[in-house]
Amino acid sequence: MSKTFNIAVFHGDGIGPEIMAPTLDLLRAFGHDFAFHDCPAGATSYLDCGSDLPRTSLDTARSADAILLSALGDPAVRYPDGTEMTPQIDIRIALDLYAGIRPVRVVPGMKTPLNIPEGRVIDFVLVRESTEGLFHTQGKGTVTEDYAEETLRLTRRTTTKVCDYTFRLAQDRKAAGHMGRVTSVDKANVFRAFAFWRNIFDEVANEYPDLTADHAYVDAMALWFVLKPWDWDVMVTENMFGDILSDLGAGLMGGLGMAPSADIGDDHAVFQPCHGSAPDIAGQGIANPFAMILSAGMMLDWLGRRHDQPQMIEDASRVQTAVDACLAAGETTGDLGGTLDTRGAAAAVIARL
Ligand code: NAD
Repeated sequence: MSKTFNIAVFHGDGIGPEIMAPTLDLLRAFGHDFAFHDCPAGATSYLDCGSDLPRTSLDTARSADAILLSALGDPAVRYPDGTEMTPQIDIRIALDLYAGIRPVRVVPGMKTPLNIPEGRVIDFVLVRESTEGLFHTQGKGTVTEDYAEETLRLTRRTTTKVCDYTFRLAQDRKAAGHMGRVTSVDKANVFRAFAFWRNIFDEVANEYPDLTADHAYVDAMALWFVLKPWDWDVMVTENMFGDILSDLGAGLMGGLGMAPSADIGDDHAVFQPCHGSAPDIAGQGIANPFAMILSAGMMLDWLGRRHDQPQMIEDASRVQTAVDACLAAGETTGDLGGTLDTRGAAAAVIARL
């Protein structure tokens, strides 16, 4: 008997539900046995029931086979201390989702700001450690009249896990024709914590003699993202560095509307677009659904590999091919220069499947 895959679905705030609905239609079109379970969370949930991440939603996510999460948050809805709610970060911590996967692929039809020389291909993956680093004291930093202080923490356990995940990812990519190169992005020239990180990276690298391992400083990497983004294959970095570099990567693709992501742990994984809830365009039906759709494609790939479902892995690659074809044909929303609305752009992808 075929397995039913339980998917926890966080529809989110703002444009969140607008891009999630056609993404679920697309997933249904494949005919896999998915059971979708709605999970309230975010600003709307906070206003409804006083919690931005109700226990029932977290429990549903914990028991699901995978988690699809749309954009959450509303700048107009805040805690009494003035900060915004970030349930997407709370889920990462609660489910130990240490590996944040941020693919950067530039294909024809994207509004990339780069002039890409003939023959150069931009296709790399940034792996952002997503549970510690400079986010360690998130919401708990010290603020006095005279100073403010946050703490960066790297543990051997998590650094080893995220490096190991990255090398395995590079191995899979090498099998598919990529470079087989892994780069540690750190600041080991200045901070002892990053010398610690680099030592662990090197220890893990020794277990993968078939791959090339090297290091780069994060400031130099910001420069190289722009000057020679075709040189990279897979990178691994600390949480805050990854937070910043992943938006730079989205910029190379012409904006957040094209940037998918996954946050992966040993037992759970969340798939979500990199962008936020875009309150400036919410309710108009014009949001770009591609980042959400590509994130759902990453979910298919992850589930397929985890449960030995070759058809799902193939369907994941079909999602990417269909989105690429829509981009090349100009079948896009207004942010990419097209004339389609959210539903129309998603329908164009489904039609090409
Ligand atoms: P944002 O990503 O929502 O929007 C930035 C700009 O990009 C806006 O002009 C918006 O219209 C545009 N944009 C974003 N996604 C788009 C899409 N799919 N199609 C077309 N245009 C798109 O960032 P923000 O305005 O800084 O944040 C808005 C809210 O989202 C805040 O409450 C923030 O906390 C939250 N947020 C959530 C996440 C998440 O859920 N992972 C990430 C970032 C921000």
